[in-house]
Amino acid sequence: MQPTNFYRPTFAKIDLNEIKMNILNLKKHMNESIQVIAVVKANGYGHGDFEVSKAALQVGASMLAVATPDEAIRLRVLGIESPILVLGASPPTFAVLASEHDITVTVFQQDWFLHIPTLPKKLNVHIKIDTGMGRLGVTTESELRCLIQTIHQRSDVLIDGVFTHFATADEENTEQFTSQLTKFKTFLKHFPERPRCIHTANSAAALMQKDSLFDAVRFGISMYGLSPSAHVSNELPFPLGQAMTLHTEVVFVKKVTAGTTISYGATYTAENDEWIATLPIGYADGMLRKLSGQAVLIQGKRMPIIGRICMDQCMVRLNGQVPIGEPVVLIGRQGSEQITIEEWAQKIQTISYEIPCVLTNRVPRIYTS
Ligand SMILES: *Cc1c(COP(=O)(O)O)cnc(C)c1O
Repeated sequence: MQPTNFYRPTFAKIDLNEIKMNILNLKKHMNESIQVIAVVKANGYGHGDFEVSKAALQVGASMLAVATPDEAIRLRVLGIESPILVLGASPPTFAVLASEHDITVTVFQQDWFLHIPTLPKKLNVHIKIDTGMGRLGVTTESELRCLIQTIHQRSDVLIDGVFTHFATADEENTEQFTSQLTKFKTFLKHFPERPRCIHTANSAAALMQKDSLFDAVRFGISMYGLSPSAHVSNELPFPLGQAMTLHTEVVFVKKVTAGTTISYGATYTAENDEWIATLPIGYADGMLRKLSGQAVLIQGKRMPIIGRICMDQCMVRLNGQVPIGEPVVLIGRQGSEQITIEEWAQKIQTISYEIPCVLTNRVPRIYTS
């Protein structure tokens, strides 16, 4: 899937070694027996679901997790044979295909099984318990007992796992985390047989909360080298390696006279005679308009994006002339300077998760390993 050629010099580089190192370091940090479920939903948080899946499996991830049935089917079609868990809701109409393709689905409602025919192959399910996230999951112990009974009446469905999801694992205050964990343990008592795979931890809990590990952890954001929050970033048990960097080149340079305005709305006016570069990347690539003012790296120095970011292009104020074709690092290192995904997230007041996810398909992903 690596593009062989592209004529616009804008691309994201994905270092699969960083992803592998993050998994290996996590494994070292946890007890060896604890499995890693590599979370590759949303096209691997924008990094490429297929490539990230292969890299994760190479270093011993035992399962992949996606959000939707379609994401799971896509990986199967591409030849991924490992266990795959769909974390989100699957419709009952997906059950036959899921069993045929050996895709594990998340269940949390007894009624889900009402309209499902006898399945061609055994369907693996993980039961989701809502212990305080308020999103998906069984909410009461009696509902859980009924759900387990319903499944036990079927010989074509196996309870392979049970899990929950924390709402505040990345925060300093552990009150809600602890209460969710306690509630989860209470729910576990209702299983007549212990399911093969009990899991609760996302990245934040996997890195910081030893008592949340059980059989496996769902490793998402930090597999890509990003911290779930500023708090976790301060408490990391090992350094994370950010896998994605973002690059382009200067395609046009000009000297403008004081008073010249730049871009839509003429919101920027040159105060002096200034050198201005045009970059071939814009909001249709995922460089959101709110990033106006953000620095980019050219010749190892920070230069600000000025004026409004356009759909396909943006302008940068230089501190002197640079040649056409000069490399630009939007995210990553150049010389001694670095711009991180977290810096972009802070600039637009969002979380690190959102930045790689909104990089669109127009930006080729180039893999190094
Ligand atoms: C996305 C997701 C994860 C991964 O969370 P990170 O914070 O990215 O590690 C884990 N579990 C569920 C249910 C998810 O939806």
